[in-house]
Amino acid sequence: MKQMDTKTLANYINGEWMEAEHTAPVINPATGEEIAKVPLSSEQHVEKAVQAAKKAQKEWALVPAPQRAEVLYRTGTLLREQKERLARLLTMENGKVLEEARGEVQEAIDMAFYMAGEGRRLFGQTTPSELKDKFAMSVRVPVGVIGIITPWNFPIAIASWKSFPAIVAGNAVVWKPATETPMMAYELTKILEEAGLPKGVMNLVFGSGSTVGDAMVHHPNIQVISFTGSNEIGRNIAAECGRQLKKVSLEMGGKNAVIVMDDADLELAADGIIWSAYGTSGQRCTACSRVIVHEKVKAELEARLLAKIKHLTVGNGLNEEVKVGPIINKQGIEKIKRYIEIGVEEGARLLTGGYELIEGDLKKGNYFAPTIFTDVKGTMRIAQEEIFGPVVSLIPVKSFQEAIEVNNCVEFGLSSSIFTQDVNKVFRAQRDLDTGIVYVNAGTTGAEIHLPFGGTKGTGNGHRDSGIQALDVFTEWRAVYVDYSGKLQRAQIDVE
Ligand code: NAP
Repeated sequence: MKQMDTKTLANYINGEWMEAEHTAPVINPATGEEIAKVPLSSEQHVEKAVQAAKKAQKEWALVPAPQRAEVLYRTGTLLREQKERLARLLTMENGKVLEEARGEVQEAIDMAFYMAGEGRRLFGQTTPSELKDKFAMSVRVPVGVIGIITPWNFPIAIASWKSFPAIVAGNAVVWKPATETPMMAYELTKILEEAGLPKGVMNLVFGSGSTVGDAMVHHPNIQVISFTGSNEIGRNIAAECGRQLKKVSLEMGGKNAVIVMDDADLELAADGIIWSAYGTSGQRCTACSRVIVHEKVKAELEARLLAKIKHLTVGNGLNEEVKVGPIINKQGIEKIKRYIEIGVEEGARLLTGGYELIEGDLKKGNYFAPTIFTDVKGTMRIAQEEIFGPVVSLIPVKSFQEAIEVNNCVEFGLSSSIFTQDVNKVFRAQRDLDTGIVYVNAGTTGAEIHLPFGGTKGTGNGHRDSGIQALDVFTEWRAVYVDYSGKLQRAQIDVE
């Protein structure tokens, strides 16, 4: 077979594209073909990037925010012009089907325009002083150099959630994307350059987490780490940042549930479950991996889900007919297989799926059959741990209250959903479900960029990506007092 031309990607440091001595292949998970080579950088590359960012940030912070925002408007326009090309590349490196890849690029476009708008807001507060002839206000100021570490499952959307607010707020960035999906990072950085971002404000350093990521976390001149990824790595990063008193924002795993009550529109619920569970092959942080179903409607819901799964074509996401793409790599397949064994050993019943797909061309890539376990208990490992594949556990319950308790009995707290037609249950659920995101009569995925995104409990550490709340990660609050009385006025003392 003819070998594809491969592209060697480069780091972007201080406005220059630099190839690295060592590279790793980038593999299309749908076909097993090499599609690019990604630099494996060293600590020295991180050092250069941080020095460049530190220098550039001082000048960038002095550019009026509405002018900084102009770069993001141009970025949004360029992303929009190149949406189809970028979506195809995204499908090739990540595997998600083209329709979802287009949606992900759209998310970055939306974020660019939204954060560009913040360039004319970045609101602070004015407030009366307790003293005469004195003015008091609080303003947002940039933090400095931001270290951004991103995962492979949303290679352009998550990067936009983090880098656009950081840039508009006047920071400079050192970005390490996941080694599995470097092409979106390369393309986005090229677009930022074309949009006129001054050199040194965005620095892209490819390489492994254990070398490049670790060097960023330890670097004393990076003031903030914004990380999205797995819990194990996030916790280690937080511990190190804690030692250094470095600000850290963590967005990590989920074990998201759809609750289906006995009064639910079951057809709608089944559609919501299929979309949330098998979109991106279950490799979303917000993927539905548990269905908490009222026992009265369990059999009917199972039948509807089985009927819908039959129509889910699995294959290469570049084919518009395909609804479920590949798993990112062989380790991902092995992890899913281990959880299938665990589920069977725990006594859950496999309703459908449970195996790798290896017929015909599928054996060249990494494919797993959409899977449902039923008769699962909320305490089983398959209902507690993140599997990150197309595997759903159906957990029968007897009441609304039990459904809420089962939803809340996991270590994660990212997203949840309830299908019901009872307005009282809707309002109780949005109060009692303990996740950062709650959906009513929709699946567990579908966040919009102008709302805060993130989770409670083991999913994060209280920060949020996207929405104006993202600005809290990338800015400090400064309180400013201006005394125009011409005399010493002491707060709390000279108040008469
Ligand atoms: P991961 O293995 O934790 O990797 C995430 C990033 O961290 C990658 O860039 C990785 O680099 C880097 N990294 C690895 N070791 C590191 C270290 N010692 N120091 C610093 N950085 C290090 O996660 P993933 O497999 O890419 O992503 C899947 C996970 O992300 C799932 O748990 C998912 O739920 C979570 N996620 C959460 C959200 C959210 O918003 N809550 C969104 C999407 C995904 P390399 O891989 O290049 O080595």
